[in-house]
Parts: sequence; structure tokens; C-alpha cells
Amino acid sequence: MLADGRLNTGHAGVLLVERRGSYPLIDLRILKTSAQQGEVESGTRRKVKRLLSFQRYCHASRLLRGLVPHTPGSLHLLDDDYLGQAAHMLSKVGTWNFDIFLFDRLTNGNSLVTLMCHLFNVYGLIHHFQLDMVKLHRFLGMVQEDYHSQNPYHNAVHAADVTQAMYCYLKEPKLAEQLSPLDVFLGLMAAAAHDVDHPGVNQPFLIKTRHHLASLYQNTSVLESHHWRSTVGMLRESGLLSHLPADISQDMEQQLGSLILATDISRQNEFLLTFREHLDNQDLDLQLASHRHFILQIALKCADVCNPCRVWELSRQWSERVCEEFYRQGDLERKFDLEISPLCNQQADSVPAIQIGFISYIVEPLFEEWHRFTEPSPLSQTMMGHLHKNKARWSRLRYAHTPSETETHSHADEPEPEGGGGEEEGEDIP
Ligand SMILES: [Zn+2]
Repeated sequence: MLADGRLNTGHAGVLLVERRGSYPLIDLRILKTSAQQGEVESGTRRKVKRLLSFQRYCHASRLLRGLVPHTPGSLHLLDDDYLGQAAHMLSKVGTWNFDIFLFDRLTNGNSLVTLMCHLFNVYGLIHHFQLDMVKLHRFLGMVQEDYHSQNPYHNAVHAADVTQAMYCYLKEPKLAEQLSPLDVFLGLMAAAAHDVDHPGVNQPFLIKTRHHLASLYQNTSVLESHHWRSTVGMLRESGLLSHLPADISQDMEQQLGSLILATDISRQNEFLLTFREHLDNQDLDLQLASHRHFILQIALKCADVCNPCRVWELSRQWSERVCEEFYRQGDLERKFDLEISPLCNQQADSVPAIQIGFISYIVEPLFEEWHRFTEPSPLSQTMMGHLHKNKARWSRLRYAHTPSETETHSHADEPEPEGGGGEEEGEDIP
């Protein structure tokens, strides 16, 4: 059975759409009774930020200055100083050791918009769906801006990283020939928007603090539902799909929802078992749209948790960022006498311990099946190689006893146990 049927369409089948900035940032204010004042302050700050961002964008955009690109794959959003370096990076956007942190710096924090524009050009999606370039930029700008840059992990760079990984998976030989333009469009859009407006705390935190999103979505896939419905809100606000027949654009919104909701980690087993069953029975038929949709769900889930499959230096940075976000939640819980959530206690939960658990219970089981699905591809082999090496490295760091040895930074350059470490050079996938 395909696991794509859990869409909650709200009352009377009408899709609920969230307004942008419709709830306050997660900070101390939500734990006080004066939440209303916080909403006003936060909303105003957000409006000003949005305005400034739009002005900055108007200034920087080559498109709005009338310099419409003539060649597919060209850039529109970069300052000239960085254009060359960022463009050079984009020419290698399909390689697995792509450094999204560097790319984000070169694009002045516009990695998500720049990457999406580039990939839409590469695939000819603008022409295929007759998209209005101004509306597309407006939509992507809103998505990028609604990620919280103050989150160590769930920010627009994570979204860009997931989008870049998704692109690598869409290029897999097993998939590439079978995918329709709609599949590619939905896969990239879902990747870019899958965590939009993430508050930097998890679902249990929202439930125990009685956040209004938890009651809105009845404590189920709270964050993922919010990401999806915020995306739909931005799609409609930008009018990106307004030229399409209503039934087509509504179907696209629903499919986006099905993809984004699949990233709910609490549904991991449901997807894994279905995926395993398909592989055991060898009954996946990628001519069928429903089967391709299922594989897109799996690909997005893989892209979302692929950090441990990256080269160590990138993988380590993501690990530290996600743990920092957990610890901040733990600090907030401690401060307000709430029970500290699992993995959020900096004193008890070390970065290596968290990473080993994450790899063992979430990443390895999923990527072992993906490895099987790709039969296995060179990219899959590269990813599994990194995964095993990174896990071994975290294990060594975990059992290192002296305080200095628990510093992950201090061992970034230590040699791999199997004597490797230099082989990343040749690991670019074609
Ligand atoms: Zn994510």
C-alpha cells in the first residue's frame, strides 16, 4: 500500500491555508500570558524585515533591472563580485560534496532562491509550466525569508541543502528517465519549502506549551502541517500557479502536502516498511504516477536526513548545528521548569551520542533500502561510505575520555581508521 493518504484537508474538505507570520516566534513570550503583545511586536518586526528584504532583492535582482537571462542556467540574483565563484559552484551542483555553506556565503545568504532558480532553468520548468518569473522570484523570496535565520539548524541553508540533495537523487539513473516535469517540479518545491517557518523547537515542545499550532493540527504532524499550509499560503499570495486550471493547482498543492508530511520522522517506520515491501516484491512500477510519488516521498525523506552521508567536514557542521538547536530547547525547558526533552540536555546528551543514535535508528535503515533501490548507484555507494566512516568517527569521539577529546572540532583533521580521508577528491558524481 502506498503511504500517501494522510492528508488532513480541514473542515468540509477545504484546504486550510495559513497566513504568513500568523504566529509569534518561539521565545519566552509564548510561555507567558501576554502572548498577544508578543504577536504584535513579532508581526511588526517581520513586516519591516520583509520590506527591507524585498527592497534589497529589488536592488540586487538582475531580472528586475531588466537584465533577463538569455541562456538556461544563468544567474539573476548575485552581485558581480561573487557571480563567478557562485556560478562555478552551480556548474557542479550535482556533485555530492557540494559545499552549501560556502555557496550560501557567496550568494550573500540567498542560497535557496539562487539554487531553485538555477534548477528550474536546468529542467526548463519555467517554460514548461509557463511560470511568471516575477511571481516565481516573489514566491521563492517569501519561502527563503520565512525560514528563521536564528535557528542553528532549521534555517534556509538546511532547505537549500535538502534541495541540492534532492536534485542529486532526481538525477539517479533509476529515476531520471521516468520522472515527468511535474514530478521534478513537486520534488524541488517540496524540498525547498519542507521546513518553512520552523520555530526551532519540536512537536512535543509545542504540545506541552499548548502552542496554538498544536491545537490547530490536533497534535499530529504539527510542524509538517504548518510547513505545508504556509507553503500553500505563499503559493496563493504570490499567484505562482494562478494561471493554471483550479483542479490542476489544487492537485499540486495536495501533492506538495503529501510530500512534506512524509518528512514527519514519527512516520518513519510506516514508510520504511512499505519501501522494503516494494523492494522485496520487486513491484515498483515507475510508469505509475502513484509509485513515482511514493519514491519522491522516500527521496525527500532521504534528502532531509542525509547529513551523516556527506563528507565529514560538512556532516560535522550539520551535527553541531542540530544539537545546538536541541540544547537551546533544553535550556528553555530548564528555565521554565518543564521536563527536558530527549536529546535536549547538553549535560547528558553529547553530540557524538546523539549522532550515533540518529545514524543507527533513522539514517542507516533508510539509506540501506535506498541503496538497494538504486541497485546501487555510484552516489549511493559514496553516501554509504561516508555514513559508515562518519559513524565510526563519532564512536571514537564518544568514547574519548579526556575533555579536549570530546571537542569535535579538535579532531576534524584526524585520519580515518581505515587510512582513508583523502578519497573525497575523486568522489564527484558525474
Ligand atoms: Zn528538514
